[in-house]
Amino acid sequence: MHTFTEASAAMARTLADLCLDRLAMQAPLDNTLTPQQLAEQAGATVTRDGIGAQRAAQLWEDVLAPACLSVDHPRYLSFIPGAPTKAAAAFDMLVGASSVYGGSWLEGSGAVYAENQALRWIADLVGLPAESGGVFVQGGTIGNLSALVAARAAIQHRRGERPARWAVVVTGETHSSVKHALETVMDVDIVLVPGDERGRLTGDAIRHRLTELDAVTRDSIFAVVATAGTTNLGVVDDIAGIADVATEQGWWLHVDGAYGGAGLAAPSVRPLYAGIERADSFIVDPHKWLFAPYDCCALLYRDPVLARAAHTQKAGYLDPVTVEGEWNPSDFSIQLTRRARGLPFWFSLAVHGTDAYTAAIEQTLHVTRAGRQLIDEAEHLRLLVEPDLSVLIFERIGWTPPDYARWSSALLDSGHAFVTPTRHGDQVCTRFAIVNPQTSIDDLATIIDSLR
Ligand SMILES: *Cc1c(COP(=O)(O)O)cnc(C)c1O
Repeated sequence: MHTFTEASAAMARTLADLCLDRLAMQAPLDNTLTPQQLAEQAGATVTRDGIGAQRAAQLWEDVLAPACLSVDHPRYLSFIPGAPTKAAAAFDMLVGASSVYGGSWLEGSGAVYAENQALRWIADLVGLPAESGGVFVQGGTIGNLSALVAARAAIQHRRGERPARWAVVVTGETHSSVKHALETVMDVDIVLVPGDERGRLTGDAIRHRLTELDAVTRDSIFAVVATAGTTNLGVVDDIAGIADVATEQGWWLHVDGAYGGAGLAAPSVRPLYAGIERADSFIVDPHKWLFAPYDCCALLYRDPVLARAAHTQKAGYLDPVTVEGEWNPSDFSIQLTRRARGLPFWFSLAVHGTDAYTAAIEQTLHVTRAGRQLIDEAEHLRLLVEPDLSVLIFERIGWTPPDYARWSSALLDSGHAFVTPTRHGDQVCTRFAIVNPQTSIDDLATIIDSLR
């Protein structure tokens, strides 16, 4: 298994060819299979003697891969799609072949150096100071959790005591991963502040909510989470107003830009993020709107020393790793061993330069604005929320939930598009999330037509 033979060469070539094919063509949208269908078509794949490279690769190509939706399809507009650049996707193969340990400087200095340059570009977009820094983690979920754990430790250290309960301010549109991190993982309470008519969390609403709370609850708050681009609505919170309250109250300001943080690189929407430079921590998922393959989240701290104090793992065998002055990515999140998952993103940034990223993000915003126009002009549709970024949420006038469900399944079954129903308040509706520069105005037009 570990020696390179002619058979391994043939196998590697087969897989390299499959990679090349996948990079060269637009894969079909594909569809989901049931467990029974997969059992019939793929059968038992793990056996005592092995089924051999040829057969396993063939199974992937013929049965398993077509049972995975292609998130980079230009008419995949559900949830938040992905759209890796060819450079990022191709470099991901090399990362896989390279056995790089990305957790420490001692073991992965070259990788960590490159990743840190990519992180620096993001920190500059946010406006974080020179000493800021962080780590690429698996996704926004781990990024949010790691930031909030650092926040709690930092505020507890500053106050020198811990209240009976800790709490964090969020709003209804705050991502489920934040609420899950707080309530389920960290056992922290949530202080829910109502959003405005577009679901935005504002400084004024937080101030008002504070007047309703008793002193014990007020004192239990250590952080507020602002969202730079809500997932369902694509709306940016009042970050400057929230930052003012955070400063007044001595709270940590965490900004969740998992989806929308990419818009920082687009001059046409950059003013929406005013105040973001005051964040104590920030995340953005390059696997969403920054064109990296899964999975990749950039986690940044204004003061990494505070994060290190919370996250550094101590064990005798780790002593050689904890050298003063060396940047150990594992010190900044809840994970130790780490794939150097920022490298595909770094490679693509290095190859193309940051202007190409700005242009690609502006392209998706341009298509979104044109799509908004199409919705405005269609008398069978009604836009539900004024968009900030690249999400359009709208209703088909007169439709009930089963109508949306039927339409959505038919679109996917025909291989044309993947657009799922969603909810806004109590209303079932649908939405487009556009992060793929290859999504065209025409793509949106054909889907809008299918809603007649
Ligand atoms: C997607 C998303 C997350 C979760 O990120 P994962 O990479 O899926 O773990 C968190 N917050 C927001 C705003 C998101 O859009």
